Amino acid sequence: MSRCAPDGKIFYSSNFHGENAEGKKIRTVLHCDGNAFYASCESIAHPEYKTVPFAVCGSEEDRHGIVLAKNELAKKFGVQTGETVWKAKQKCPSLVTVRPTYGLYSDISQKMNRIFYDYTDLVEPFGLDESWLDVTGSIGLFGSGRDIAEDIRERIKRELKITVSVGVSFNKIFAKLGSDLKKPDAVSVISYDDYKNTVWGLPVEYLLFIGRSCGEKLHRVGIKTIGDLALTDRDFMSRYLGKNGLMLRDFALGRDYSPVTPMGYEPEPKSVSNGMTFRRNLVSENDISFAVNYLAGSVAERLRKHGMLCTTVAVSMRLSDLSVIIRQAPLETPTCLCRDIARSAMRLIESNRRGEEELYSITVHAEKLRRGSECDLQQSFFPSESDLRYEKLLSLETAVDRIKARYGKSAVRIASSINNGLI
Ligand SMILES: [Mg+2]
Repeated sequence: MSRCAPDGKIFYSSNFHGENAEGKKIRTVLHCDGNAFYASCESIAHPEYKTVPFAVCGSEEDRHGIVLAKNELAKKFGVQTGETVWKAKQKCPSLVTVRPTYGLYSDISQKMNRIFYDYTDLVEPFGLDESWLDVTGSIGLFGSGRDIAEDIRERIKRELKITVSVGVSFNKIFAKLGSDLKKPDAVSVISYDDYKNTVWGLPVEYLLFIGRSCGEKLHRVGIKTIGDLALTDRDFMSRYLGKNGLMLRDFALGRDYSPVTPMGYEPEPKSVSNGMTFRRNLVSENDISFAVNYLAGSVAERLRKHGMLCTTVAVSMRLSDLSVIIRQAPLETPTCLCRDIARSAMRLIESNRRGEEELYSITVHAEKLRRGSECDLQQSFFPSESDLRYEKLLSLETAVDRIKARYGKSAVRIASSINNGLI
């Protein structure tokens, strides 16, 4: 089966081989959105609110008095999210207002995400009450995107006593749009074969990332619907709104290939580096040593976080005339220690710096990474003295990581950084 794309290209539809016009595999992405989430959570905690119009509002004293969420009864009075409490109370004098209890919302949010994980591990939360799910790999097990969406919708209603609306589509942008099409407690599907019929007639503001001002800009040149945007000349969009314009036009054409990225997930790095221009040029050996240790510290910390070791260290030095010298050297043993990385970087700088030349900035790179943690490193029944020293330093540096993670980056600082005027 073939059809004609707006740009005149003939392409095969998804039924044919499961790929889109650009030869990318067609995904199944869900976007689940809690309906009037804060208000729903409050009604679970306070069933008495169910029978009165009520709204969750920011505090009235500190001028953040706006409606954050309202229940169905308040909605009937015309109360709107985002308007001031004052205005809402004019519309609905009996409106009960409550302050947000974020602990409760995040609790229920976590329970919601736990349900999502029953269907896929590719879950990307977007705020407290929204998540994307890539269920492409789960279809064989749980049925079509629509089946999974219906299942999730019913389970959340039954188990958590709140309702969600779910959008099902082949990318994140359309899945998000889908979850707005019907609510509360509904599923909408925007399929690859039919997205033009479903989406192109909708106002252009329905697309994620098109806010009010962008919407106005588009209206000014006659782009009112998502279809208008899709069919706008590419070069015109590029001239009119730059890269963003092209991105939005791609979205309208269903060309959003951004992956659903699980919470806390970071791709394994190929190299880790950290560079900085300090507040003044680096002059003395002390300055340079401080800078190198400072930079190597965060490089080593990131290596440890990813469970990686580096086998090569490189430095880039920018001199005060802004020319750059880059040097690298292999390490004798792979490491994730600040001490080793800093030492190697210092040696590289000392042997390559011309005389007393001042340095404008330094970057420390850890390269040729390989997977491996402290465990598989230098493990033997008869550890040498250097092995023992390595382990001691590693536990010291890891302890510092933990302190920083808990109390903030500035909780532990190099003593010489105090009053040296560099940072
Ligand atoms: Mg919501």
